[in-house]
Amino acid sequence: MTDTYLNLVNSGVTKKIAKQLGLPQPTPLRRHRPGAPLVDGPVLVLGRDGDGDALAAVLSGPAGGAPGATVLDGWDLEVHRHAHPDTRYAAVVLVLTGVTHPDQLAEPVLAAAGTLKGLARGGRVVTVSREAGVDDAPALAAARQGVDGLLRSLAKELRGGATGNGVVLREGVPVTAPSVLGALRFFLSARSAFVDGQLLTVASDAGALPASWETPLDGRVAVVTGAARGIGKAIAQTLARDGATVVAVDVPAAGEQLAAVANEIHGTALQLDVTADDAGARILAHALQRHGRLDVVVHNAGITRDKLLANMTPDKWESVLAVNIASQLRINEALLTSGDFADAPRIVSLASTSGIAGNRGQTNYAASKGGVIGMVRATAPLLVPFGGTANAVAPGFIETEMTARIPAVTRQVARRLNSLQQGGLPVDVAEAVAFLASPAAGGVVGETLRVCGQNLVGR
Ligand code: NAD
Repeated sequence: MTDTYLNLVNSGVTKKIAKQLGLPQPTPLRRHRPGAPLVDGPVLVLGRDGDGDALAAVLSGPAGGAPGATVLDGWDLEVHRHAHPDTRYAAVVLVLTGVTHPDQLAEPVLAAAGTLKGLARGGRVVTVSREAGVDDAPALAAARQGVDGLLRSLAKELRGGATGNGVVLREGVPVTAPSVLGALRFFLSARSAFVDGQLLTVASDAGALPASWETPLDGRVAVVTGAARGIGKAIAQTLARDGATVVAVDVPAAGEQLAAVANEIHGTALQLDVTADDAGARILAHALQRHGRLDVVVHNAGITRDKLLANMTPDKWESVLAVNIASQLRINEALLTSGDFADAPRIVSLASTSGIAGNRGQTNYAASKGGVIGMVRATAPLLVPFGGTANAVAPGFIETEMTARIPAVTRQVARRLNSLQQGGLPVDVAEAVAFLASPAAGGVVGETLRVCGQNLVGR
């Protein structure tokens, strides 16, 4: 599962050759290390209105911290409000919430342009804008939707492991709402290493800033299905790192690996096939008996049984739908009707870019993953009354045992088909799941966040 090409183009003579030949030059990504600074250098905040000032104040203000963090607690970053010549910025935040006409994009966007050649390795560009609505005046909607196209194109131009992502505020959501700050922080941080070219909508000012940004899941109990290996294992480890107590679930056949994961993270293991009729009740009973509560459910267990539809068998179709979507619907139903999953609960499901753009040979898998995207959108409103959310993460090409089975040449090509020109790691998906599970994502509802390095999904 090692990306030999990535290693070659980053060492010695092969690096030079790759450059001369104009071959893709993926950069090793900046990934989260507990205790490391949020960004490695000054941050430029552009946008000279009230929203720009408010965000600049949070970014530059003195760090407050636990307990009971508020928006007034700052992040203690070196913030510039004008581009200083010859400064190597770690990040550029483009606050565009106030634009009412496309003409107004020029000034802040061109000010950012001047800094891009000097952007630090693993740098960040984050836009903060408002959602375009059908009730907007045409020029207003054009300006707002324009940010979408701008951001996605800019993300494709950035190099050196730098990414571009956007936070999109629904009408009426203040720029200092917990989830605006949470999403901005996630995009600036190394936790979002493989998230690129994505815009995440914040629907409300629900949610809360965590007492600690290092351990935002303190006191929460999380269940992760399919946790014995791959992405599920990384999710279990990451949620535990962020402070959660984790129940690791997998099939009995994976019992040994599952126990090892649970022991490593001081959680508990539950051997369970998620397609069992009583899976929801058993998950809840285990969490309540062993840990006294249940706050977060991560539906990660998933399988592929690829076949062209012309050759599809009922068994291949039905098993994929049963594990990847029907089990999630049944478990959610059991949890939501129990009354014991009601304290700002979080559901995070694993979708896939195949469920967005389709993939030859994967009609069954894509139906299940498209199903996940629809399910979280429709489940989210059911959770809002008690401060809950349901969201999905859609991984692109991630280096796991699942993708190691792809033939070698196809695998090499698949790795390069995104803006970061490499496959993601399981931890990259896990970081996005952990963010959506955190208190600061309480205003993000029914969304599907892609973790795909801006995969060319062809839709
Ligand atoms: P994986 O095959 O390495 O691991 C999946 C885990 O789920 C295994 O431990 C397996 O035992 C468990 N599982 C399968 N059926 C189960 C059941 N009925 N009950 C309980 N556990 C069960 O897969 P992965 O690559 O880590 O993928 C994890 C999730 O991410 C899946 O939902 C997958 O569809 C999704 N995903 C992966 C990629 C990728 O590139 N690897 C891309 C997009 C989406």
